[in-house]
Parts: sequence; C-alpha cells; structure tokens
Amino acid sequence: MNIHEYQAKELFVKYKVPTTIGGVANNTEEALKVAKEVIGENGPWVVKAQIHAGGRGKAGGVKFLTDIKKVESFTQDLLGKTLVTHQTGPEGKVVKKVYVQEGIDIEKEFYLGIVLDRQNEMPVMMASTEGGVEIEEVAEATPEKIIKINIDPAIGFQGFHGRELAFGLGLPKSDINTFIKFASALYTMYMDLDTEMIEINPLVQTPDNRFVALDAKVGFDDNALYRHKDIEALRDLGEEEPTETEAAEYGLSYIKLDGSVGCMVNGAGLAMGTMDTINYVGGTPANFLDVGGSASAQTVAKGFEIILKDKNVKSIFVNIFGGIVRCDRVANGIIEATKITKINVPVIVRLDGTNAKEAAEILNNAGISNIITATDLADGAKKAVAHAK
Ligand code: GDP
Ligand code: MN
Repeated sequence: MNIHEYQAKELFVKYKVPTTIGGVANNTEEALKVAKEVIGENGPWVVKAQIHAGGRGKAGGVKFLTDIKKVESFTQDLLGKTLVTHQTGPEGKVVKKVYVQEGIDIEKEFYLGIVLDRQNEMPVMMASTEGGVEIEEVAEATPEKIIKINIDPAIGFQGFHGRELAFGLGLPKSDINTFIKFASALYTMYMDLDTEMIEINPLVQTPDNRFVALDAKVGFDDNALYRHKDIEALRDLGEEEPTETEAAEYGLSYIKLDGSVGCMVNGAGLAMGTMDTINYVGGTPANFLDVGGSASAQTVAKGFEIILKDKNVKSIFVNIFGGIVRCDRVANGIIEATKITKINVPVIVRLDGTNAKEAAEILNNAGISNIITATDLADGAKKAVAHAK
C-alpha cells in the first residue's frame, strides 16, 4: 500500500525525520489557510499535486510561488486536472488534493532511500549525490554514483553505516553527524512501520546546513498492515486500481498488467509460472490472478468478470491444477461461470491433476464454442497466445 506525500511527511514528523512544514488542502480556501497560518503571510510557498506517482515536477504538478494570489490560482488549476507523469501511465491521474509547503532554499540535492534487499535478505539504504533526478536513470547510466549499504536488523542502524554513506556522498566532516541522525531516524521508521520502501528524492541540504526531506514516497507491506490500523486508515482507494480492490473483496489476488492474455490460475506459484510461459511463447499476460484453493463456480465467474473489465484482453488462459479441488468440479464450475458472466473471447482451459480426464470430457461435451481445451501448460500457453493475436 502506498500513501500520499503529505501523509508520509506527517509520519516523518512523528519519527523526527526533518521535513518541510506544510499541510494538505482539498480546495483553494484550505490552501490559503495553510499558506497563511501554517507557513506565513510572506511565503514563499510550494504547491504540490498529491497523487500516488512521482515525476510531478516535470509534469507541471509542483510550483514554487512568492505571491499568495498564485497559491490560490495554481491550486485552482491543479485540482481536477489529470496529471500525466512517467509513473502514471498514459491515462494519468486526477489531482484531488494538494500539499501546500514552505518554500525552501536549496544548496544541494541528494537521494536517500531504503528498501528490502531480497538477495541479501536485509534492508539496504541507498544514497546518491544525484538527487532530484530520476534515480532509475542514475542506476542505469552511472550505477557507481549510488552508494548502497546493507543493514542487518540484528544489529540495527549503527554509526558506521551512516559514516559509510556520508563518506560516499563526500560530505564534509561538519555535516556527518547531522546526516547520521537523519538516516538513523529513517531506519527506525522503516522498521517500526513495516514499510517496504521509503524514498526521499530529493533530500536537500539548506544554506544553513540542515538536511530536509523535500519529497517523500512511502510504501507498506500489505501483509503487515493488520498490525498497523492507523496506517491502514491512510489508504486512498481512489489512487488504486479499482479492479484490484474489487478482486480483493472476493478473496482473489489480482494484479493488472498491460498484456493481452488474461490468466486465471490457482496458486501464486503456478500463476507466476503461467505468466512466464506466456512470455516464453511470445505473448504478454494481461494480469496475475490467483483464484485460491477453492476455484468454485462463483469465484471463477468473478474471475472472468474482473479479467474482462480489461479491454486489452483478447483471450483467457485458465490453468488450474486439481489437487484437493477435483478437475471435474472445476470444469462444471467453468461451465456454470459462463452462464453467470458473458464471455466474448476464446477461453483456453488446461486442467490437470485429479479427474483431469473426466474434466476434459465435460468441457468437450458442453458444446460451448469459445472454450478450447489444452493438454498441458505449453500447449495451453501457445493456444492462448495464438488466439490473442
Ligand atoms: P516529484 O517531481 O514528483 O518527484 O516532486 P518533488 O517533490 O521531488 O518536487 C519536484 C522538484 O520541485 C524538486 O526536485 C525541486 O527541484 C522542486 N522543489 C520542490 N519543493 C521545493 C522548495 O521548497 N524549494 C525549491 N527551491 N524547489 C523545490
Ligand atoms: Mn521527487
């Protein structure tokens, strides 16, 4: 789960990670109130679009302002506007809130982030002097400009971690302790809140030598949200893929992708294998969908309905392994599901495991013209890809 910049900055304040002063606004009145009462009559102010995507600056969603009238007019311009950034996709995201922030004098821009390093099985903190620009580009073109340090949770964040990062950034001696304090507070927040990622781009240094988080991107581990009810309350469903939210309500794990072959699979591992095989035979998966262990007519019908909401889907590959759930029951479930949800694309079905033979007979005898049976995973993937083209 991701949150907005203004929410992330409220958490920074709680964890003593120095950040900007400011507040959220839903309309121009609220924006003016924050500008005058929280920041001050004389500014300067920065008005920033609140959407779950970076790259707002380049897309015209962030503006430094010295005239209070402009705070009002720019807020007016932003609210309701669709912002297209390199992270939103071509459809963009509608701005519903802005964050009004104090305008800060910038001496130097850095990058500072912390994520889970799955290879080394511990958090990794990353810093770079190339702040303010797309870090993905830095990682691609000049990876040596990103300093990485693993932090073993058994010992926690220590001074030497901070010094290694600070030396790597070439900070003068006089700045090292302030930087270590900053990074240490960030690590505490990362661990405490079960975050998956915290990214500060840019982390700025001011002319009076303070480190300030100018931007804030925070993502949480969904599987740990149950122990952070206050964090869960920060969820903004308006920023999430509506079909993913709907699927979750029915106990289906669905992730929308941008290919053309819809996938309905039981088990996360088989779902990944199915997507890989589709890619391997030259196709592109439209989604990840794990229908779970039961694969009843209702869940299968719901699965079809959700997959078909995506207009890019040209065929559907149903790949279900009958272990506890018998294939003949799944086959009947699929036939039932086609009565509940109207399906207008070819459906390629591969059922294997318990009673697979009976299942194939049931499907072949059902006389549903757009159901095509497959003998194994490769056969199914090839047929699904061929029908999508
Ligand atoms: P992003 O484009 O979505 O990553 O949004 P950011 O919060 O990073 O803002 C974009 C850019 O606006 C930053 O990289 C800064 O260059 C600039 N900016 C934002 N706030 C301030 C500020 O207080 N002072 C100055 N001088 N520039 C700012
Ligand atoms: Mn940024």
